[in-house]
Amino acid sequence: CGIVGYIGNEEAVPVLMNGLAKLEYRGYDSAGISVYNDGICTIKSKGRLSMLSDKIHGEGVVSSHIGIGHTRWATHGAPSDRNSHPHNSQSGKISVVHNGIIENYMDLKAFLEEKGYRFASETDTEVVAQLFDFYYDGDAVGTLRRVIGKIRGAYALAIMCNDHPDSLVAVRKDSPLLVGLGHDGNYIASDIPALLEYTRDYYLLNENEIVFLKKEGVTLYDLDGNQIHKDVFHVTWDI
Ligand code: GLU
Repeated sequence: CGIVGYIGNEEAVPVLMNGLAKLEYRGYDSAGISVYNDGICTIKSKGRLSMLSDKIHGEGVVSSHIGIGHTRWATHGAPSDRNSHPHNSQSGKISVVHNGIIENYMDLKAFLEEKGYRFASETDTEVVAQLFDFYYDGDAVGTLRRVIGKIRGAYALAIMCNDHPDSLVAVRKDSPLLVGLGHDGNYIASDIPALLEYTRDYYLLNENEIVFLKKEGVTLYDLDGNQIHKDVFHVTWDI
């Protein structure tokens, strides 16, 4: 139900946890994060953010400068640790958080199972991680465009690839997602309050606009892969 993503000079775990806490008002039944330190590290838990936080501290906080976080409101698959996001592809190369519903996930799951993919959850979301993995050729934007061509439904997606731990890719359709522009890092979130303490400058994403985030900057693309430019939306109000 809530998404936060970060890449920059700060430690990612506190930025993600702080952002998710600001999205708690949206409601959720579980939460999780993926960060990177010599590989993708995913920690997730059913229940409150405090339970996730206990788990993160129990395992030892991973130092990372990139990450994605999620609070889930289950639609497909009961609330459980396993069904919590992020969902990783079987190979462990791809990590995905998703808000919304992938309507044709059953067909995609059957297709991927035929190709040898094994699924670890009952969610609709996991097909996105596996399908992205199936098409992935090192070009995250191109791969996401292919994935968008196959999935139907509502989605805000943020994706991390373990061979490019210096970038994030994201998209939205019928589910909110925006980009926060910082001085020494960039952000994504499903709502402005998650990021207000970090930045007041945003790109508001239209349907199926793809965003490629690096620490140094953000590039936007349309569904055909053409680069697009938009005005920065400056927030003047406080919460
Ligand atoms: N449909 C997804 C699930 O049930 C995402 C739910 C959400 O938006 O939090 O896991």
